[in-house]
Amino acid sequence: MNYDCKKLANLLFPDVTKTVEDLEIQYPERGLKEGARVTRFAPSPTGYLHIGAFYTALVNLLTAKASGGVSYLRIEDTDKKREVVDGVSAIVDGFREFGVEFSEGVTGFGAESGNYGPYTQSLRAEIYHIVAKALVEKGLAYPCFCTSDELTELRSVQEKDGALITGYFGKYAKCRDLTFEQIEENIKSGKPYVLRFYSEGDETKRIMFEDMIRGKIEMPENVIDEVLLKSDGIPTYHFAHICDDHFMRTTHVIRAEEWLSSVPKHIAIFKACGFKVPKYAHVSQVMKLDEEDGNKRKISKRKDPEAAVSYFFEAGFPKESILEYLLTLINSNFEDWRRANPTADIYSFPFNLKKMSPSGCLFDLVKLNDISKNVISVMKADTVYSLISEWAQKYDADFFNVFTRDKDFSTEMVNIDRESAKPRKDIAKWEEVKEYYSYMFNEYYVPNFDLPENIAADDAEAILAEYIKVYDNNDDKDTWFSKIKSLCEPLGFTPNVKEYKKNPEQFKGHVGDVSTVIRLAVTGRKNTPDLYTIMKLLGKDEVIKRLKEKNKWKK
Ligand code: GLU
Repeated sequence: MNYDCKKLANLLFPDVTKTVEDLEIQYPERGLKEGARVTRFAPSPTGYLHIGAFYTALVNLLTAKASGGVSYLRIEDTDKKREVVDGVSAIVDGFREFGVEFSEGVTGFGAESGNYGPYTQSLRAEIYHIVAKALVEKGLAYPCFCTSDELTELRSVQEKDGALITGYFGKYAKCRDLTFEQIEENIKSGKPYVLRFYSEGDETKRIMFEDMIRGKIEMPENVIDEVLLKSDGIPTYHFAHICDDHFMRTTHVIRAEEWLSSVPKHIAIFKACGFKVPKYAHVSQVMKLDEEDGNKRKISKRKDPEAAVSYFFEAGFPKESILEYLLTLINSNFEDWRRANPTADIYSFPFNLKKMSPSGCLFDLVKLNDISKNVISVMKADTVYSLISEWAQKYDADFFNVFTRDKDFSTEMVNIDRESAKPRKDIAKWEEVKEYYSYMFNEYYVPNFDLPENIAADDAEAILAEYIKVYDNNDDKDTWFSKIKSLCEPLGFTPNVKEYKKNPEQFKGHVGDVSTVIRLAVTGRKNTPDLYTIMKLLGKDEVIKRLKEKNKWKK
């Protein structure tokens, strides 16, 4: 550069009086214990929390927690095109629904906590301008007045030249050569300009860095004079996040893999600013198998409803299930750990960034369902009652009224086959509950008179006719069952399943078939949780009413 850089810095930033040193004092080293990691999740306020983004956020949280460090939420709102009204609340609420908390940062629209703020980029203009001014002073940034037509022209020249690298750099970076007078004149005449990084990179050199998930990586050095400040003075992501990560004292930049290719650029800018380069970890994308071609692909906001975390809450997956499932994707040893520590808090899992897979993990809804069934099966009945009520209140008002009109009844209902050594595992999400227990509520009960093939309608009728005679809702479970057994022989069935298996031709069926008929008559289902308790809860009148519908069996 052929001019006094300090003079240029004052011309470009006449109002900036603070220095980088002032910022170093304002945002000091955190003084955490040795090994404590400072991580951040830095979404744009798009009003949408993608399951893949939440996954990355979780990796950040686990990294900080496992090391006794700090995690914070920063809102990156420098790209106004991506921003939507209330986009911050949607993200913060998403985390709140998961019960997940950052140690500091943005806590809601216009709200934050922590000493390293503001945590919203649009409120940090002064900081970016201070750092930008310092770069200009060092001759490492300069104004570029090229219009978009000139940049298009540059590209076609480069294509003609057969240049291997395209973009604003080296000999093509014509604004590098402007004199101070030319710059001053342009500025006086109000010509718009961007501030570019003055790259000292060498096309023939490569840089090496360590990615904590991917290991050693080698890439060509950055040579591009990247835009740092746009013509309205707003920083680009590249520049803003570097200033933020430095002054928020981030030790580990853990972000989506799409940023991996920008690392050489970021390292160059970190170094030019005189900032320590943080450690990097680029998290792979969350993928799914395409329904049509069966190929692995990124979960897409446009095509897949499950891209949004709200999808899982609407379906009524408990947050514990989703977290538990994501942990199995994050570290493959999580499942073994869980088996050994069935009730431990997920944050006590010894999470290790280095154990993450560098290839995209596959999000499998079937597996999530299985995990969720396990998670729900070990919940206490009171908890299940509260969670179903909360869910229904939000998403199914009609069911909410029915489910909550008798708390004791519904709690006992969800307690059937629960709180035991081998609890039933058949509910994965709350939206299944209404259908699963439909026979417990008259407004949802749908009678079903379809007998299994091995039971004749006349026999079913006979079973019920005899059963009504002996049924007593006050019976204890043993008596209840012995009464069912006692129906068998007179009707040509056997109470003994083994005996039936030995000589099936001698009987119409066994006690299981007799129970099935009663179960079908009372619930409309061939399979239910413990029938004895169901009948107790339904009450004598309702049970008798249903048993009397016996003559409707399909013949
Ligand atoms: N704002 C960037 C994004 O939404 C964040 C990248 C980062 O974590 O540094 O992709």
